[in-house]
Amino acid sequence: MITHEQADFIVPQAIEGILAHRVSPSPARVRELLAKAREQRGLSMEEVACLSYVEKPELLSEIFSAAKQIKEEIYGSRLVLFAPLYISNRCANECTYCAFRATNAALKRRTLTQQEIAEETRILIRQGHKRVLMVAGEALPPQGFQYILDSIATIYSTRVGPGEIRRVNVNLAPQTVERFRLLKQAEIGTFQLFQETYHRPTYAAVHLKGTKSNYDWRATAFDRAMEAGIDDVGMGALFGLYEWRFEIMAMMQQIHHLEEKFGVGPHTISFPRMEPAVGSDIASQPPHPVSDADFMKMIAIMRLAVPYTGMIMSTRETAEVRRATLELGISQISAGSRTDPGGYKDGEGDPNGSQFQLGDHRSVEEVVSDVVSLGFLPSFCTACYRLGRTGKDFMDIAKPGEIKYHCHPNALSTFQEYLCDYAGAQAKADGEKFISDELQQMDGQQTACALPMLNKVRRGERDVFV
Ligand code: SAM
Ligand code: SF4
Repeated sequence: MITHEQADFIVPQAIEGILAHRVSPSPARVRELLAKAREQRGLSMEEVACLSYVEKPELLSEIFSAAKQIKEEIYGSRLVLFAPLYISNRCANECTYCAFRATNAALKRRTLTQQEIAEETRILIRQGHKRVLMVAGEALPPQGFQYILDSIATIYSTRVGPGEIRRVNVNLAPQTVERFRLLKQAEIGTFQLFQETYHRPTYAAVHLKGTKSNYDWRATAFDRAMEAGIDDVGMGALFGLYEWRFEIMAMMQQIHHLEEKFGVGPHTISFPRMEPAVGSDIASQPPHPVSDADFMKMIAIMRLAVPYTGMIMSTRETAEVRRATLELGISQISAGSRTDPGGYKDGEGDPNGSQFQLGDHRSVEEVVSDVVSLGFLPSFCTACYRLGRTGKDFMDIAKPGEIKYHCHPNALSTFQEYLCDYAGAQAKADGEKFISDELQQMDGQQTACALPMLNKVRRGERDVFV
């Protein structure tokens, strides 16, 4: 039995010791680090801190172009799409920044029934989604944890014509090892959990009540998940609560801890910036706001630091900010999101039932058209997870650049499915042209793999992947 009560892998003194210097690195040092990063060897915590103090525009643009290069080499033009599915906004915790917090009387509470979850799922399927992030507040209905398991099963079993959700990721409270095993049996993809802030005094100040006020229980959740056999975990911090440099360095400590203990780091990292939320003062006035300029720098540096880790951008951000981050290393985006339970059926989403205010209100089709016009290939692929290529196995494929021969053809075939089944006339024409341009640019081995897959999809076969 592994013990993990204390998150002693987060060592604030080490972070503060490095940050105390606040030295802007010389151009030579920056270029040395960028050369290392370009070889896809990642960066240490100290190196991350060093780059975070770069301010000169010409050096910043060198950081951005290195991030772009790494992203293109590892991920190509692919961009994975998903949608969140909020099943309940009832919560026993008191996180001062969140509209779902227990004592927020301004929020309309709702826990979806299985029929309502199926209905939301059908709407997402009709929009073309294949991946869902199931999200819930931390208060279970009378069925207890079975409600969560039933909800996952409902999403997986819902069908609309040839459409289905093929990967359910979850963003839920930290669990015990036993419950993580149940989540694994329920075939979740990624278990996503944000530490919110790694700075203990700030953590204590914003988590006033409930199990979430226990920093260590949350910070050791991935250890329990991995002990239970879940090797895809997604980390993040809620940016705005504390100094962003501290948060990314603490993330580096947690990443190294997981790599050392389990041989694999997180599958994804998310970068939620705090957004206004009904009944929360702090959400509208974050104590440590992250400017757009720092946000871009942080994302680029993390792309250099952990080149093989997926990076997620949600619809908290505006279309403009999201577009800019795609070049810097973001590999997954949500689209057409609602953050209130039942929000897809209700249309616009109910601000009084929502977790926070969205920055990007565009439909899935609008987001797809936009990313295509920017030269990115929308991917609805879920193959790795279903073929068991997760955790270390995924990293072994990812590292030698082999993703090109799996992910790229799979992205094309799932995009082709989207175009055949869900796209409007203009989006379809633009998408078909994009696919044929992509085929032109592929090497012989990739085309030999991708073309027969595309033809199968065009003839009506579905779920074609390698
Ligand atoms: N209740 C679970 C928890 O707290 O981990 C899971 C769901 S919670 C709704 C998902 C995430 O939303 C939180 O981890 C937090 O980072 C984020 N969040 C909460 N309030 C937010 C706000 N005002 N702006 C942006 N993100 C927020
Ligand atoms: Fe509840 Fe999660 Fe919101 Fe905290 S962030 S109040 S735990 S839903």
